[in-house]
Amino acid sequence: MMKKITCFLLIATVITVLTSFYTEPTRPMQKPVIKTIIIDAGHGGSDNGARGDYSFEKDICLAIALKLGKKMEQEFPNIKILYTRTKDDYPSIKSRADFANTNKGDLFVSIHVNAGPKIRHADFAGYRTETYYTGKGKKRKKRTRKVPKYNIYYTDNPSNGTETYIWAADRADAKGEFISERMSEEVNDSTEYAPDINDPEFKAKSLLWTKRYFDRSLQLATMIEEEFLNGGRVSRGVKQRNEKGIWVLQATAMPSILIETGFISHRPDEDYLNSNKGQEEVADHVLAAIKRYKTATEATPAPKQGF
Ligand SMILES: [Zn+2]
Repeated sequence: MMKKITCFLLIATVITVLTSFYTEPTRPMQKPVIKTIIIDAGHGGSDNGARGDYSFEKDICLAIALKLGKKMEQEFPNIKILYTRTKDDYPSIKSRADFANTNKGDLFVSIHVNAGPKIRHADFAGYRTETYYTGKGKKRKKRTRKVPKYNIYYTDNPSNGTETYIWAADRADAKGEFISERMSEEVNDSTEYAPDINDPEFKAKSLLWTKRYFDRSLQLATMIEEEFLNGGRVSRGVKQRNEKGIWVLQATAMPSILIETGFISHRPDEDYLNSNKGQEEVADHVLAAIKRYKTATEATPAPKQGF
């Protein structure tokens, strides 16, 4: 009897020890890296954005964003597709970033249209005679002189094609703050442990995520411009900027890009971006790039999912 109990205890101990070792590898299958994508149609409502000969940037942004979203819903049935706006209204830039962060977006794609200022020309058009006076009182004399005449006119800025923006690397600190904020919120959600954001380990982790998001944003932006180029568009490449309008890219704690889909100030681009064919093509190119990005990132997932 005693022997039986000892034997049972021994087996129980062995099982306990073994299972304690094996809890890690028996975790459920790794979750997909991209679960939520935020699509942001630029401008809207009272903010028209740039103006072309006959159209507003805000309307093109919305049309392309909705087409892109529809294609993504069909292509990725397991990914949640969320929109910062689906009609002609204007959510503030801050509320767009808040929306992306609270919905735990894994990717932020902002759709815009570029514009270049009209180019001023001054063509010499001969001389005209100008009258002027010298001296005072009795010495006052009427004189004339010839001054050149110019015809002033403006032509469209010849800039055309696409550009995709990521936030400037020198703004990594600002992006890092938003990432830290989201990290601490997510840790709070899942455990009772409240991280100290000044803790060096937490800071190092936040920096790592900032770097990773930057690399991923650059990767996707590059793929998007490649798709545009392969599709016959003029690609002006991937750019970094940090002026107004790009703030949303640093306030979103996820990989984020802003696509300038063409120049509304360039009539052929404006016609293309207002056409159904052009909007479908732009959406197709962006979709193709996101598909490639998804495959690439999910093939090399982050060492540890989540924060
Ligand atoms: Zn814009």
